[in-house]
Amino acid sequence: MPHVLEDKWKDECGVAGLFLNCPMEDTDAARAAFYGLYALQHRGQESAGIAVSDGHRIKLHKGMGMVSDVIREENINQLPGNIAIGHVRYSTTGESGIVNAQPMVFHYLQGMIGLAHNGNLVNTTELRKQLATYGSIFQTTTDTELIGNLLARYSQDKIEDALAKCMIDLKGAFALVIMTEERLIGVRDPMGIRPLCLGRFKNGYFLASETAALDTVGAEYIRDIEPGEIIVIDKTGLTSIKGASSPRRAHCIFEYIYFARPDSTLDGINVYQARREMGRQMAREFDIEADMVIPVPDSGTAAALGYAQEAGLPFQDGLMKNRYVGRTFIQPTQSMRELGVRLKLNAIDEIVAGKRLIMVDDSIVRGTTSKKIVQMLRNAGAKEVHMAVASPPTSFPCYYGIDTSRREELIASTMGVEEIRSFIGADSLHYLSIEGMFTAMGGNPDRYCDACFSGHYPLGMESIEKSS
Ligand code: SF4
Repeated sequence: MPHVLEDKWKDECGVAGLFLNCPMEDTDAARAAFYGLYALQHRGQESAGIAVSDGHRIKLHKGMGMVSDVIREENINQLPGNIAIGHVRYSTTGESGIVNAQPMVFHYLQGMIGLAHNGNLVNTTELRKQLATYGSIFQTTTDTELIGNLLARYSQDKIEDALAKCMIDLKGAFALVIMTEERLIGVRDPMGIRPLCLGRFKNGYFLASETAALDTVGAEYIRDIEPGEIIVIDKTGLTSIKGASSPRRAHCIFEYIYFARPDSTLDGINVYQARREMGRQMAREFDIEADMVIPVPDSGTAAALGYAQEAGLPFQDGLMKNRYVGRTFIQPTQSMRELGVRLKLNAIDEIVAGKRLIMVDDSIVRGTTSKKIVQMLRNAGAKEVHMAVASPPTSFPCYYGIDTSRREELIASTMGVEEIRSFIGADSLHYLSIEGMFTAMGGNPDRYCDACFSGHYPLGMESIEKSS
């Protein structure tokens, strides 16, 4: 059942992995992986899991739900070892269910291997057929199991060589954390579509989707994993291998707009500052007469602040968010659907009454939530509601690990700006331009994937058509 309180693209997945040379306690690795996943909870709330190696065998615990529901103290106590990988998942491929939850642990010729994947492959149909021809059988519908099977095909090779071969076969977005009984490995796809960064402890290393996870566990940020790079960590230290290359990078720009935590820095750019710059850029592009700027919390907050600063307008909290509405919330029935947005957001009448508002949000997906918020502000007495969107219209679906709606469900794919304005009931509607978005990111559009705005898929449409 779709979550009634949300009208946003879904976060994909989050991965973390760590290698400790000499843990103080047997369960330090599992515990640090837990805290890392906790910091990445926004990237997936449907399942969570940790796999830990004690140097001889890999043990796994995973389940459906949020990190703190799935991984309890008693589970940590049963996961001794010095190498751990972890995963939080929102299902982007495969159905949601325990069988598809990650990490996945396999036995192959060289021993045991654990895998956790963030991203989405675009040539799965082709790869599955090829592997099935060689006798592979599949228990799940995930890309992760496919990658495990592919690795097993190259099992005569050392793991890093097998991975380098896999990287030639795999097309799409993948940030992987992998473990054997004795090693931790990080891999990023040749375009670097999904993020992966490296940090250091006094006694080891930490890999994570976002730097916020490094901060949480007290690891010092070293650098982002390069596109196409394979990092191998074992008791001799860290080795970097160039696995595959690409003529261009294609970091997901939507990570900066909505998915990643504002306190994370991805590929050298802090997410909060990027959002604030997008807000500033909007103020340069739009000419709206208004009394104040208000954010749709929390995703519109940094952009709204940037807008207010650049336009010289007051920034006010006109909407309050109930931060305790979780995904397990009792879903309102159809007849109570109108309740949805009000459970999550409420207008502050005393702030907005009689005012001309610029309401800033990061994006519009279906438009249904924006419509309700505009109405809520009008009911609270707002004189005018102008909506400023801190990204261009999202007209195209994502095939690289984000659970977007189908194209026909994206309001911007079927309606022009004026029609959307009329649908949401705002006095005016303004989207940040694609050029303005890149200006806010410091230029260099060739570094980013912007396919959901432009329809230009960095891996080409051909591969997408084959996979869909
Ligand atoms: S299509 Fe959009 S959401 Fe998907 S990877 Fe590209 S920029 Fe990110």
